[in-house]
Amino acid sequence: MGYLKQLDIENFKSWRGKHTIGPFKRFNCIIGTNGSGKSNIMDALGFVMGERASSLRVRHTRDLIHGAHIGKPVANTATVKIRFCNDTGEEIIYSRTISGEFSEYRVNGKQVTLAKYTEELQKIGIIVKTRNCLVFQGAVESIAMMNAKERTKMFERISRSMELAYEYDTKLAALQKA
Ligand code: ATP
Ligand code: MG
Repeated sequence: MGYLKQLDIENFKSWRGKHTIGPFKRFNCIIGTNGSGKSNIMDALGFVMGERASSLRVRHTRDLIHGAHIGKPVANTATVKIRFCNDTGEEIIYSRTISGEFSEYRVNGKQVTLAKYTEELQKIGIIVKTRNCLVFQGAVESIAMMNAKERTKMFERISRSMELAYEYDTKLAALQKA
């Protein structure tokens, strides 16, 4: 399974100017105070994957430009770029730039239509189902069919907390003995 390596944001929502977020590991956690822009990072991911404005918590696409929510956009455009590392270690760059209501999509720097862009995303197994939830193809049904234990195991595997279970149990047993 590939993974998201890096996110580059420019003038998107609360993120003024250029920001690089990452490089990411396979499992990541974003923390920050209320209103610091955590959900806007998830919105940026949805945005670069072609989500509509309504799913990104704004009425119009142009409202996504930094400052536009108070009628003072700092620029004419906003851009989000992701670097994705596929199964074979190859890096693919997807980007979306908005200028007003117009969106420009690029794959590895080459401008493409939204249909082609979506197709290119599906090639790496990504389909955007709902806001802030990027679901890998075929996984939806199998996750829904799992029982509570199986689902817990899945999260333990993803978070790699399973690898710490032995150490945790040993230390807990020692503490209980003391
Ligand atoms: P919480 O912990 O409450 O969920 P959060 O870290 O998820 O907070 P976000 O929802 O990502 O916070 O960010 C909210 C902030 O983004 C608000 O202060 C809002 O004013 C700001 N914001 C939204 N759109 C824009 C925009 N176009 N330009 C500048 N700031 C914006
Ligand atoms: Mg939030």
